Amino acid sequence: MRRIYIEITDLCGLNCHFCPPHKQSAEPMTLALFESAAAQAARFVREVALYVLGDPLMVENLTEYLDICDRRSLRVALTTVGLELVKGDRHALLERTLLHSAIKQINFSVSGFLANKTAVSLEEYLRTLFGFVQSARLARSAAFINFRLWNGENAGNAAVIERLRELFGAGDRGENPYIQLAPKTRIVFDRQFEWAVLGNPALAANGRCLGAKEQLAILKDGRVTACCIDHAGALSFGSITTHTIEELLHTDRAKRLIAGFRAHKLVEPLCQTCGFRTRFDR
Ligand code: SF4
Ligand code: SF4
Repeated sequence: MRRIYIEITDLCGLNCHFCPPHKQSAEPMTLALFESAAAQAARFVREVALYVLGDPLMVENLTEYLDICDRRSLRVALTTVGLELVKGDRHALLERTLLHSAIKQINFSVSGFLANKTAVSLEEYLRTLFGFVQSARLARSAAFINFRLWNGENAGNAAVIERLRELFGAGDRGENPYIQLAPKTRIVFDRQFEWAVLGNPALAANGRCLGAKEQLAILKDGRVTACCIDHAGALSFGSITTHTIEELLHTDRAKRLIAGFRAHKLVEPLCQTCGFRTRFDR
């Protein structure tokens, strides 16, 4: 197992056109449930990602979740649009939070910003994130910081790339699939992120995936599922509130899914609709 995703909140306050319909609730995963999720995750992995749907910066006491990870020697990856950093009343606290020693990687979803109309201008947004990177490096943070443009050939990308290159004084992309802005700081590109949605037309009946083998996700209510794409728990094997992850990986459903991937078969309807899986075919 390489990574376990833990959904500490499903709240983000945005409305990306590529996001599946879902309820956003203000209540994060309770600290007691997170403590249990982290303890169980630590038996399998050294790295957790604190997101599935939602933006971890919406969680007021994010530091307490990071402290728990630290105590379990779990390194943390966070993905956030980063708009909360622009808010004057939260900026200083969030900046300190993001310098937490448990954090290994921060992904700023610039594609998420571009997909929404907000009162914040692109200039203010990028300047804020640039300022954060400067603070992180001054504080000797070892975290990798990615500016994600996971939106294919979006027309808004050119302005983002130009401004970030100016701010960082960076060169162009050359032959690389990324732009190196500074040490440990990159713009990274990929195609549009696609969520799998049960009920969508099937794309394939055969194929492989690393879900349940290389990754798992623990949703906000404790349900364990095969991957971070399954935000609704359509593949749920059960919950950590009643079973251990070991037990859940030995349920008939989990074993069927894993054996299916091994035999190049997509046994679950959700997996048959999943375009994200095809990136593992590359
Ligand atoms: S894709 Fe992420 S940032 Fe966009 S609306 Fe969905 S949860 Fe929020
Ligand atoms: S095929 Fe898609 S939905 Fe199924 S486990 Fe893999 S990533 Fe998740």
